Amino acid sequence: MNCVLAIDIGGTKLAAALVDGSGSVLRSGTRPTPQQDVIDALAGLIAEVTADGPAPVAVGIGCAGPLDLALGTVSPVNMPSWRGFPLRDRVRELTGLPAVLAGDAQVFALGEHWLGAGRGSAALLGIVVSTGIGGGLVFDGVPLLGPNGNAGHVGHMCVDPYGETCECGGRGCVERYASGPNLARWAGENGWQPSGTPDARALARDAKAGDAVAVAAFERGTRALAAMIASTAAATEVTDVVIGGGVSAAGPVLFGPLAKALDEIGGLAFVRAVRVHPSTLGVQASLAGAAKLAWDHS
Ligand SMILES: [Zn+2]
Repeated sequence: MNCVLAIDIGGTKLAAALVDGSGSVLRSGTRPTPQQDVIDALAGLIAEVTADGPAPVAVGIGCAGPLDLALGTVSPVNMPSWRGFPLRDRVRELTGLPAVLAGDAQVFALGEHWLGAGRGSAALLGIVVSTGIGGGLVFDGVPLLGPNGNAGHVGHMCVDPYGETCECGGRGCVERYASGPNLARWAGENGWQPSGTPDARALARDAKAGDAVAVAAFERGTRALAAMIASTAAATEVTDVVIGGGVSAAGPVLFGPLAKALDEIGGLAFVRAVRVHPSTLGVQASLAGAAKLAWDHS
C-alpha cells in the first residue's frame, strides 16, 4: 500500500504516522521531546512507526520555527538544543527518502484544508492559539511558505503600534494580547482570582461561569485576534479562518466575542464575509498536513 511518513515536532511532543493517499492513518506513535538528543528520540520513533509496516515513499515534516527552507534547518524557540539544526538532511539520512519541511502552523493549516474545517477553501488562514500564536496560509490548496519558510507568522502582526513590547522584539503583536499565557497574565494584572492554576484553561472556565475579568480578558484578546484576521483578509482575500491550539478549546467564550469583534472591526464586504471555524482535526491537524506536504512532493 502506498503511504508517506508524516512527522510533527514540537517542544513537548514528537509524533509520527504512516498516512495513505486518502489521509487514513495506518500506524502512528508519539514520545515526549527530550531536552537533549532530540534526533535520537526521533530516530527511535521513526523506527517504531515504520517497523514491519508498508514502506513510505516520502517524508513530510512539520516543525516549530523559525526555520530556513533554503538550508532545511530549524531553530525552534522552545528547543534550545536545536539552533540551525539541519533537520531535513538528517531525516533524509535516517529514512533514505525524499523529505520536505514546513513550519508547524503551516502544516496545521494544510491539514485542516485537506481533511478538516477548511476543506475545499480557496483561500484559508489557519491559526494556532496556544503558548504562542502561529499561522499558515493555503491558497488553491497550496501552502504559502515564503522564501525562507516563515510566511504566516500572524502572531507577530502588529495590532497596536503604540502597544506593549512583544518577546520577538516588536511592538503591539497580537500574540502579546491573545496567546494563552498573555490572556491569563492580563487577567491576573486586572484582579482575576483563579481557583486553581492561573492559566488559559482556568480563565476559560471562569469566563464561562461569568467572571467579569475573565470575560473581559477574552474580549480584549479576541479583539486583537479580530484585528489580525481582518488585516490578513484585507491583504490576501482569505475567505476562511480555522482556529486550533489549546486556547481554542475555550469554545464559545472565545468564538463568541471574536465574531462580535470582527463585526465591529471589518469594513470591506470581502473582509466582513470571512468565515471563522473551530479546528475539527485538533492535535491530528499538523500530522495530516505533514502527510499532505509529503504527498504533494512525492
Ligand atoms: Zn511579536
